Amino acid sequence: MREQIDTIPVNEAFESGDECPFCYLMRKAEQSTIRYVAGPGASYMEPDVRAATDKVGFCTSHTKKLYDYGNSLGAALMLQTYMAGLLEEFDMEASSLTPGKRSLFSKKQAPDSSSYPARILQKADSCFICDRIAYHMRRYFLTFFHLVKDAEFRTKVENSKGFCMSHFAQLMQHADQMLPKGQTDWFYATIPTLTKKNLIRVKEDLDWFIAKFDYRNAGADWKNSKDALSRTMQKLETLYPADPPYKKD
Ligand SMILES: [Zn+2]
Ligand SMILES: [Zn+2]
Repeated sequence: MREQIDTIPVNEAFESGDECPFCYLMRKAEQSTIRYVAGPGASYMEPDVRAATDKVGFCTSHTKKLYDYGNSLGAALMLQTYMAGLLEEFDMEASSLTPGKRSLFSKKQAPDSSSYPARILQKADSCFICDRIAYHMRRYFLTFFHLVKDAEFRTKVENSKGFCMSHFAQLMQHADQMLPKGQTDWFYATIPTLTKKNLIRVKEDLDWFIAKFDYRNAGADWKNSKDALSRTMQKLETLYPADPPYKKD
C-alpha cells in the first residue's frame, strides 16, 4: 500500500474540538476498519482478507469490538477458518511440547522465543484491525507534517485542544523525520506548550469534578467538569471510555 496524504479528515479532526485530533482520527479509522471487516461489504468473505485475518487474528480489544459490532455470522465465519488453521498448527506442533532440558547449573532458562507457546502468545497480540489502524495513522501523521507548511492549518493547530500523551509523544518522535524545512521553530515553540496548557486545563476540570463531591459544593455549577473523568482518561490513555459499543446499523 502506497502512503498518501489525506488532508480532508486531518483538517476535520483539528476543527472537531476533540481533546486530541489524532484520537479522533484513530476512532474513525477503527470504526471504518470494523465496518470494512464485518460490515455490509462482507470483506470477510474475500479470500485475501480471510487469509490475512487467519494469519494474524485479532487482539483482545478488537475481538470484543467485533462481538459488539453485532454481525455474529460474519465473526463466526472468520473465527471458523482461524480456528481450523490453529488446530492444524496444534497438530503439527504437538510433538514439540516436551519437557525442556535443564542444566544442573542454570535452573532458570529464558523461554525460547521461537517455541510454539511463544508463537501462540505473539499471535494473541497481533491483529488485523490494529495493523490497518496503524497504516491509517501513519498516513495521518504524514498529512499533519505536510499541512504544517500552511499558515491556516497552523492556526487550526494553535486553536486546538492539544493532544493525548501517546499522540503527543508520537508527534515528537516523528518530527525530526517528517517536519518540513522552515517549520522546526514553530513546531517546537507550539506543540509542547499547547499540549501542556491543555493538560493543565483538563486537570483543573478534574480537580473541580472531585471538589463537586464535597457537600459544600453541591449547589455550585459543574462548569466544564461533568465529563472531566472521561476526558482525563483520553488524555492519559488514548481512549474514549464513555463511547457506547460501535454497532452495525
Ligand atoms: Zn490522542
Ligand atoms: Zn487490535
